Amino acid sequence: MFSSPAGGASEEDKSVKFTGWAAVPGGDGVLQKWSYHPRPLSADEVEIEITHCGICGSDIHFMTEGWSSITRPAIPGHEIVGTVVKRGKDATHQIGDRVGVGCLVSCCRGSSVCNWCRKGEDQFCENKTVTFNSPFKDGRGGISKGGFADRIRVYSDYAFKIPKEISSAEAASFFCAGITTYTPLKRYKAGPNTRLGVIGIGGLGHIALQWAAAMGCQEIVAISGRDNKKDEAFKLGATKFINTSDKEQIKEAAKSIDLCLCTNGSSNSNWEEYLSMMAPLSQLVLLAIPEEPITFVGSHLVSRDVAIVGSHLGSKGDIEEMLEFAAKQGIRPWIEKRPFDDINEACKDVHAGKPRYRIILEMDPSVSTATPTSS
Ligand SMILES: [Zn+2]
Ligand SMILES: [Zn+2]
Repeated sequence: MFSSPAGGASEEDKSVKFTGWAAVPGGDGVLQKWSYHPRPLSADEVEIEITHCGICGSDIHFMTEGWSSITRPAIPGHEIVGTVVKRGKDATHQIGDRVGVGCLVSCCRGSSVCNWCRKGEDQFCENKTVTFNSPFKDGRGGISKGGFADRIRVYSDYAFKIPKEISSAEAASFFCAGITTYTPLKRYKAGPNTRLGVIGIGGLGHIALQWAAAMGCQEIVAISGRDNKKDEAFKLGATKFINTSDKEQIKEAAKSIDLCLCTNGSSNSNWEEYLSMMAPLSQLVLLAIPEEPITFVGSHLVSRDVAIVGSHLGSKGDIEEMLEFAAKQGIRPWIEKRPFDDINEACKDVHAGKPRYRIILEMDPSVSTATPTSS
């Protein structure tokens, strides 16, 4: 166990300690139990007792420093679900509310509001704090710590009430995988005139197929390098399957996709092949960040007005809308539950691409609670 706080001078609530699974100094990709004093609960914050947290590819990139080096100790986890156990006097939630927290925990606070918050696109806020290892810019100091833990304190506008139709374990993955796939479908108006492609049938892709089916897309093409998820892709809503290891199938699909979500973060993807399938005036939307630069020649883009764009999460409004849509349409992530204590094994499985389709860590209800301290 490590006792030093994770950087960033801030006021601490010495009356309580939260315990999480952290990337610690010298720990490489292995998480170890680590406790910290949270920031004092402010008037507009809630304290959440965490019951579930999904494991996302980003957590693995982070822990293994695939994207950049990190400040340790750091607690990952950003598909968080739990119960409100404490509230500040101005918080919008009540004790006992079941809420979820995703990739962001703060945006502009107080009177100065950035352009993006004003536009309702807080995911681009100039003063945002992401859920873990990110400095708070609210004047109170400290660095955010994520959901692989027993508790978390967040501003109540970043804790979203979970519709009663959705179980806590199933709700978790909406807060990253769900919103990441929902927003671009909304932004690019996926619907009855859209021939949609989804590259990669995993944690993100399996939800994207379900959104697309509920939105009534004209054609839903699951695109994968292997046939092993073909049957499940059809169950999830696909109307067509392309195995990219079969060059004939790619040729037959030339210029046939109007909007394509790429969930594949592998650097050795064949971008030329993906682009060859894009129709005129189409968008290829990157949802995962490859660790290496991607390369392609420009002819597909120029000859057919094809755009390669990215998409980053969604706004608070998008998250609320998505949860309602999922509840109404019966869309649920396909999950495998594991106890929090198996976190390192579970992370290894995610790293190896084994889950079908999302691993959700589940807290043993008999052991979870924050530890009061006398120090
Ligand atoms: Zn994520
Ligand atoms: Zn802002």
